[in-house]
Amino acid sequence: LTDACLSEIEGASALNAFVHNTPEIAREQAKAADARRGADAPDMNGVPVGIKDLFCTKGVPSQAASGILEGFRPEYESTVSGKLFDAGAVMLGKLNMDEFAMGSSNETSVYGDAINPWKNDDRALTPGGSSGGSAAAVAADLCLGATGTDTGGSIRQPAAFTGITGIKPTYGRCSRWGVVAFASSLDQAGPMTKDVRDAAIMLEAMCGFDAKDSTSANLAVPNFEAALTGDIRGKKIGIPKEYRMEGMPAEIEQLWADGQAMLKDAGAEVVDISLPHTKYALPAYYVIAPAEASSNLARYDGVRFGHRATLDAGDGITEMYEKTRAEGFGAEVQRRVMVGTYVLSAGFYDAYFNRARKVRTLIKQDFENVFNAGVDAILTPATPSAAFGLGEAKSADPVQMYLNDVFTVTVNLAGLPGIAVPAGTDGSGLPLGLQLIGRPWEEGDLLNSAYALE
Ligand code: GLN
Repeated sequence: LTDACLSEIEGASALNAFVHNTPEIAREQAKAADARRGADAPDMNGVPVGIKDLFCTKGVPSQAASGILEGFRPEYESTVSGKLFDAGAVMLGKLNMDEFAMGSSNETSVYGDAINPWKNDDRALTPGGSSGGSAAAVAADLCLGATGTDTGGSIRQPAAFTGITGIKPTYGRCSRWGVVAFASSLDQAGPMTKDVRDAAIMLEAMCGFDAKDSTSANLAVPNFEAALTGDIRGKKIGIPKEYRMEGMPAEIEQLWADGQAMLKDAGAEVVDISLPHTKYALPAYYVIAPAEASSNLARYDGVRFGHRATLDAGDGITEMYEKTRAEGFGAEVQRRVMVGTYVLSAGFYDAYFNRARKVRTLIKQDFENVFNAGVDAILTPATPSAAFGLGEAKSADPVQMYLNDVFTVTVNLAGLPGIAVPAGTDGSGLPLGLQLIGRPWEEGDLLNSAYALE
């Protein structure tokens, strides 16, 4: 299986999904898996996976798709990738992504665009972002599963754009240790897979308490696969009216209606709900995420990691920082650092950062209110459209790009689990995804509801 995947990867280099292949490691891990074969073999024994470049992998380039981490080979393994290997998974290589996970199209990567294996005529489409390489690799059968990370939709949006399944677990479910930090209060790792069952198995292998991450939840790991009974009779599914955006394409409306009908047919009760602060989520996210990023990215100083600019005679430490960061960071990352620094500056802290934090609390309370009223899960579209073309209008206008995250960022702000599942196609046959949002720590239940949509 590992050999088959390695040869598929070679044949699909045009997708630019894998940016660093690790065939030696893969073959060694596969051999070890063969030796463990049998009833006692761990859950993911011999399953070939790809690892997003945001995860530190011991001795293997881990660049977060950024020029500033050029040449960085971590001396340690991220907790999540380490857990996957303990469960028998085989690492095929590192996967393309937006630089530092900032983006929704994989176009900010230092490695260049990842390409969606789905095509619309001959137009090259984005696989989404930031976990674009992960999504493209799973959709093109280059691996059986991939790790993703989701700060504002980066697992769910690319999953929807490529017709695969991706779950962002509850904040604190997966350890962030060894995952390059973007916005620490929002970042979560999760699996990207062909279907819900694979997602359940892979999530179980990835998650669990880790003393090295102070926000890791000290909870037992449930058997997520066992939760997939297919029985959702009597479950209450909420349909938030605020997600019915003005100008929403008819095919997204239709997809949403079809999803409601499927859940009803399976015996669920579908109810209208209100999440009144939804419209403030996107602006709050695009204040909080850059603020945290500007602080997290201060560590890339040309001394501790990766790239350092060549200096001119007479340059001091300030020039070293400036030149290194100007060369090492791409335009979107620089934009985020500037926005983040601005909203955190003494004169604007209250007006922007503090305001955004208050809005975040209100958004969280909106969800708590509906869950307290007995709603088990919330159904929404995953994205406002199907995959868009690479290098098109959205790529030139950052605000247009940010609008892509309208259905996903609320979930990160509230720390809730959210899953995207393929649920239909648009007029030209491109995949579309639905999103289900669950109660905190009830990923098993959420996966089971998503299972009913398959
Ligand atoms: N597209 C969002 C952003 O650019 C989300 C990124 C993510 O989830 N990592 O911030």
